Amino acid sequence: MHDDIPLTTGRATRVLGERIRPAIYSARIPLEVSFHELPGEPIAPEQGRELDFAPFETGSVWGPAWGTTWFHLRGTVPAEWAGRTVEALVDLGFDQNMTGFQCEGLVYLPGGEPVKSLNPRNQWVPVAERAEAGATFEVYLEAASNPVLLDYVPFLPTQEGDVRTSSPKKLYTFRHADLAVFEREVYELSLDVEVLLELQAELPESSPRRMRILQALDDALDRLDLQRIVETAADARAALAPALESPAEASAHVVSAIGHAHIDSAWLWPVRETIRKVARTSSTMTELLGSTDDFLYGMSSAQQYAWIKEHRPEVYAKVKAAVADGRFVPLGGMWVESDTVMPTGESIARQFLYGQRFFEEEFGIRSAGVWLPDSFGYSPALPQLMRRAGFEWFFTQKISWNQVNRFPHHTFAWEGIDGSRMLTHFPSMDTYNSQLSGMEVAKASRQFRESRVASGSIAPVGWGDGGGGTTREMTGKAARLADLEGSARVRWEHPDVFFERARSELPKPPVWVGELYLELHRATLTSQHKTKQGNRLTEHLLVEAELWCATAAVQVGARYPYEQLDELWKQVLLHQFHDILPGTSIAWVHREAVERYASVAAELTAIIEEMQGLLAGEGSERVVFNSSPLSRDGVAGHAADVPVPATGEVTCTPTDAGLVLENDLVRITVSDEGLVTSAVDLATGREAVADGQPANLLQLHQDFPNMWDAWDVDRFYRNRVEDLRGLDSLEAGVVDGVARVTIERSFSASRVTQTLVLRPGSRILEIDQSTDWHETEKFLKVAFPLAIQAESTSAETQFGFAKRVTHTNTSWEEAKFETSMHRFVHVAEPGFGAALVTDSTYGYDVTRDADPDTGVTTTVRLSLLRAPRFPDPETDQGLQTHGYGFVVGADTADATAAGLALNMPARERTGSPVAALVEASAGLVVSAVKLAADRSGDLVVRVYEADGRRTSGELRIAAAVAEAHEASLIEDVGTPVEAVDGRIAVRLSPFEVRTYRIVLAS
Ligand SMILES: [Zn+2]
Repeated sequence: MHDDIPLTTGRATRVLGERIRPAIYSARIPLEVSFHELPGEPIAPEQGRELDFAPFETGSVWGPAWGTTWFHLRGTVPAEWAGRTVEALVDLGFDQNMTGFQCEGLVYLPGGEPVKSLNPRNQWVPVAERAEAGATFEVYLEAASNPVLLDYVPFLPTQEGDVRTSSPKKLYTFRHADLAVFEREVYELSLDVEVLLELQAELPESSPRRMRILQALDDALDRLDLQRIVETAADARAALAPALESPAEASAHVVSAIGHAHIDSAWLWPVRETIRKVARTSSTMTELLGSTDDFLYGMSSAQQYAWIKEHRPEVYAKVKAAVADGRFVPLGGMWVESDTVMPTGESIARQFLYGQRFFEEEFGIRSAGVWLPDSFGYSPALPQLMRRAGFEWFFTQKISWNQVNRFPHHTFAWEGIDGSRMLTHFPSMDTYNSQLSGMEVAKASRQFRESRVASGSIAPVGWGDGGGGTTREMTGKAARLADLEGSARVRWEHPDVFFERARSELPKPPVWVGELYLELHRATLTSQHKTKQGNRLTEHLLVEAELWCATAAVQVGARYPYEQLDELWKQVLLHQFHDILPGTSIAWVHREAVERYASVAAELTAIIEEMQGLLAGEGSERVVFNSSPLSRDGVAGHAADVPVPATGEVTCTPTDAGLVLENDLVRITVSDEGLVTSAVDLATGREAVADGQPANLLQLHQDFPNMWDAWDVDRFYRNRVEDLRGLDSLEAGVVDGVARVTIERSFSASRVTQTLVLRPGSRILEIDQSTDWHETEKFLKVAFPLAIQAESTSAETQFGFAKRVTHTNTSWEEAKFETSMHRFVHVAEPGFGAALVTDSTYGYDVTRDADPDTGVTTTVRLSLLRAPRFPDPETDQGLQTHGYGFVVGADTADATAAGLALNMPARERTGSPVAALVEASAGLVVSAVKLAADRSGDLVVRVYEADGRRTSGELRIAAAVAEAHEASLIEDVGTPVEAVDGRIAVRLSPFEVRTYRIVLAS
């Protein structure tokens, strides 16, 4: 028989778009609209409803960037609509493709009850399922005129990303606000046609199923009178029914759908707007839960729940009720969906602690899994931290964004640096914003890598990023896809249920060892330097404050500031969100982040000084408080004492080769260009700097990625480089027993000052750098070519380090051309190594060179500054400071100590020595000493192995111990441990982390 598939699909597509969908609403009358445009920031809804409203003409413009306009909508149901389903339709000037990225609103009843939100894909408000003639309709609409920043031509620099620089121009044309009759049968027909049309497109051209669907579509369209859609819709649906009733194949892939809106806690909008975004989406979702039976909605981030609890309690009440019903599912057990590459181990522990505590206190539940669909790569320390916090599964999809390599598994065991394994799933649909399109559902089935033994994958369904969530069209599609021939089966399912099934289907899952490196967004380790600096500073100050607060509470009975520390932790945790710490938000967000870091740092410094004052007491000695767990200058870790001056002295001598800085340990040569041409470890005579290749060389690259400016650096950036050798001035000398070389350079529109410092008894060349940075689309690195044949780098991550090879044999290795570190990166060959330590940066790269005369050399470069122009056109402009150091002759233990010392500087004050509350034997590194979050007064001590080797030793508690227990990472009491005379024996495997809870005798 003759056939013409495009004729049928073209017909169905046109009739659906131009006839069926427009007939979903059969009659309309305009609502009466009045408005009040607020002059500034948002106000509470109860105040909004009390505003004076002026008449508003639909069709006119409203809303400057970041403005809030309250609308009042009123109308009366006409007599002839009695018994019909009536909805209000509001179009604020929506663009269908910009859900979550442009104007949106939240609708309230006159009594204050939130109804649902309005966005481009959700323009309706329920009025009455069966309307009464003459019934009045009245609502208030809090509308936000958020500007579009990611436009059809993306990544163009814009000043609209901060209310301080945005234009006052009104952005949106309010198209209409109507009462309308909703024709349910036409609406259902539209979904029938859409689902079948999308399904057939995914089937093989010759498949009988596809042919049957096409015939059913033709039959249905033959029965539809295009001038009388409402009257003939049911008949058309009857023609489609057999095709929709045909069941799925026995082996069909199962899509475990969970309603979702991945709402970024800040990004192309400020934090204050996220609070409203969460309220809007949550309102829509509780409405949808109320009108469906099996739909489930999942929302992560305790912070987002805490926001609506505080700012939109009327929304929160509905959420809380839906959580109690098991329909609104708190996911992830973290405070926010944080970056996991840059925060310290303590920060990750607190993301889990504050997240799970909130869920437990508010809802009586804990999350069984970590939910991070969108963060930019995942640290190899994470499996252990998740496991020790009590999690059983991990979910992300971001690795599907890899530029080069396709990840080989969807359900697998992920193994971390210590050997911990965590059951992990990536959705084979490759999205966290599924609309349940036929294409997506087919992709989930087609791509799934474990189909030999496992039955399905997860799909987060709904509009995300800027919010919106699941729509009724999506739940309507899910109902049709539950058991449909040719399609994967779709069912709403709690992720816990999915993972339980996955665990039984895959008793021996494939294993992936090491980091989940994202082959994209590599520049997020460097963009927005002050945000990163603020994070690094405050997360160390928090640990320092806890240490001295706990010590003072135990030793001198000081009051432990639980509430203040909780609040400060939550501020720092919020800013670890995966678009803030990575530096990918608008200017407004980063401006506020830097202000917040400054206030958090000031508050913590005050706490630390107060506690140290109480501890040091009245004595008259100059004592040094050492917050690092490792001793320095003769002061034990976590103690205060009079420092022992380093032996020997340091000299600074001009020679033909340049200035020679020398102490008892190292001899450093600084050329007259201000470059480090030699660094010799005096004990071994080993030269650390590669022959003929100076270190401390600043290098400036052109850096204009193909897209995602603040996120990405593309590999070709290395092709164009300028070595910054030009010198304005060089001054050197020994002042107060310390050798200093100060170098000034100008380049392009910028200027940099470096002070190189060598102290007596130190093998670290410290570098203090301040840069007046006025570049456009440039990348600044500092290079250290080393006379070391390193097979790999060891870069610090949470509670240990990750190894990465220095070569690029495979495409996986080649793709890691920019990678992450915490406080140090270390390279070595047998018998000799060197490290770079840093107080505020996270990115580095490594390359290797081979020369027949000098052998293999390894060049490590720290990433210092970038200058992308989207989304913040002024990224990193102005004065920037960096502290880093070159450790000559170091193993990873030396690197760990140097990194800790740089990030936890000693504090000097007058008083008496203070004994450490917790001492640890060599080989154990204490990462936290604090009082328990539950305010029981228990002491919590966390310790880890930092060197990648098995070790044992003991913790010594300088207080009377009543009992001691192992504890989870989030301080749950575990098995008892012996504590004789305050001594707890500890045995750790490589990179193992253990937490102890200690009850002190009162
Ligand atoms: Zn995100």
